[in-house]
Amino acid sequence: MIAIFLGAPGVGKGTQAAAAAESQGWTHLSTGDLLRQEVGAGTDLGLKAKEYMDRGDLVPDDVMVGMVATRVESMSADEVLLLDGFPRTLAQAEALHEAAPEGAIGLAVCFTASDETLVERLLGRGRTDDTREVVEHRLTVYRETTEPLVDFYKDLGMLREINAEREIKIIQSDTVEIIQAGLAHTNPQGANG
Ligand code: ADP
Repeated sequence: MIAIFLGAPGVGKGTQAAAAAESQGWTHLSTGDLLRQEVGAGTDLGLKAKEYMDRGDLVPDDVMVGMVATRVESMSADEVLLLDGFPRTLAQAEALHEAAPEGAIGLAVCFTASDETLVERLLGRGRTDDTREVVEHRLTVYRETTEPLVDFYKDLGMLREINAEREIKIIQSDTVEIIQAGLAHTNPQGANG
């Protein structure tokens, strides 16, 4: 089953996805981490992506879909894949539906926090794309381009919301519980084509 982690930059979804994967033996796939690995390795893709990331813009859909599609297409029936940072656009969401095995997308977990909290967390993180100007741009891009996915998954009956302003341990147990509940409802038939 695929569980999509949705939410603004700085909301802590990466931290939650990593912790849930670690404690439950699930797979964590972070497109931000994949891109930073490409940047670190100095690949062509990394060099191209870095320009977008440093500005706080989204990396083009074809690049991102290329990164994720093969992985999703080859997932096994009993695997739990936490998708962190993908999809971020409607086109990516549609590509994910095409690539994923029939019935594999179980739910989208949306983490919420106020803008003040987000900016404070992002500026405290100190990544190179975490300067005030870039952070504000990333939040604008999120509101305009990624937030519509919340309604997209709500309309599919897949959306679960988590208040990410609470204590980290509480968010953690909520996250695991919601995904386990999703797993209990997933029909394993067809999960591998
Ligand atoms: P955050 O945790 O702050 O949301 P990420 O680590 O997920 O940030 O991503 C960092 C940057 O990588 C994004 O600002 C964006 O430029 C790029 N990126 C990551 N995932 C995607 C995606 N699915 N589509 C387009 N760009 C992406």
